[in-house]
Amino acid sequence: MLGTEAKQMSGVLQLGYLVFEVSDLAAWKDFGTKILGLHIVGDQGNRGFGLRMDQHFQRFFIEPGPADDLAAVGWEVDGPVALEAVVDRLKAGGHQVTRGTAEDAARRNVDALVRFEDPAGNPCELYHGPKLAGESFVSEVARSGFVADEQGLGHVVVVSKNAEEHEAFYANMLGLKLSDYIRCEYFGHKIDVTFMHANSRHHSFAFGDGRDKRIHHFMVQVHAMDDVGLCYDRFLFSGGMVHQTLGRHPNDKMFSFYGYTPSGFHFEFGYGGVEVDDETWEPTTHGIVSEWGHHPPQLLTKAYRRAKQERDKQD
Ligand code: FE
Repeated sequence: MLGTEAKQMSGVLQLGYLVFEVSDLAAWKDFGTKILGLHIVGDQGNRGFGLRMDQHFQRFFIEPGPADDLAAVGWEVDGPVALEAVVDRLKAGGHQVTRGTAEDAARRNVDALVRFEDPAGNPCELYHGPKLAGESFVSEVARSGFVADEQGLGHVVVVSKNAEEHEAFYANMLGLKLSDYIRCEYFGHKIDVTFMHANSRHHSFAFGDGRDKRIHHFMVQVHAMDDVGLCYDRFLFSGGMVHQTLGRHPNDKMFSFYGYTPSGFHFEFGYGGVEVDDETWEPTTHGIVSEWGHHPPQLLTKAYRRAKQERDKQD
């Protein structure tokens, strides 16, 4: 549980960027631009590229490598004083912090950064002074644009080993606040996910048990429901594999679907997430993962086959 100290202390402002190590840069270029509707920035050929979605110069760093996984989560603080405050807390908590060089900061287009790991070993970067883009962001693909800027890029869901320890780390070190939990059974799988927020976005960060990768999924949010449907169509017709069909979550009320990225982990594309007001927000535990939808498509295919067999018998 969070103490009053954790609730009041200065912490991260937002989920600022994600770094992915990917084995197929070309596939990610197509996916990022043609499916998600982001723009390529800082293209360095076979050394990777960035993706832009709002006034931040970039929100994703796509870097080459065999892992096909999350390489780092970038958390933004509002200046050098806030950065040092978090560094002091991390060190006092016995966590190892490495200062990024000027070159490291330049590579991320920020004024300064430090690196550390969370209790599950997920690489984290803490930075201030992000480079902003000169002109406003307009996507010809996701026309309503993305809910980002002060709310950060969206959310990321990572693997934890010990949920209690993980929650305490993010609350006490980074100042994230608890949004809620989802605990239930879903088609034979036990789901136990903790959701935390850094600003008014319902959650910038969540974690639960995982399997083979550090990341479960990341989410980006658009301003119009139709842009979710249009992305769904683009993804289906591009031969993309849906992981969970359209649906709505009970906690953040996000209307969304999930698909496989070219790296095998998932993305969520959503609309309509609720915002949190810390004055009135009461964390709860939800006993379902979706109010409707978010079905694995293979189950729908099975149901369809069964129904068709029944109909064929009647004819
Ligand atoms: Fe999500």
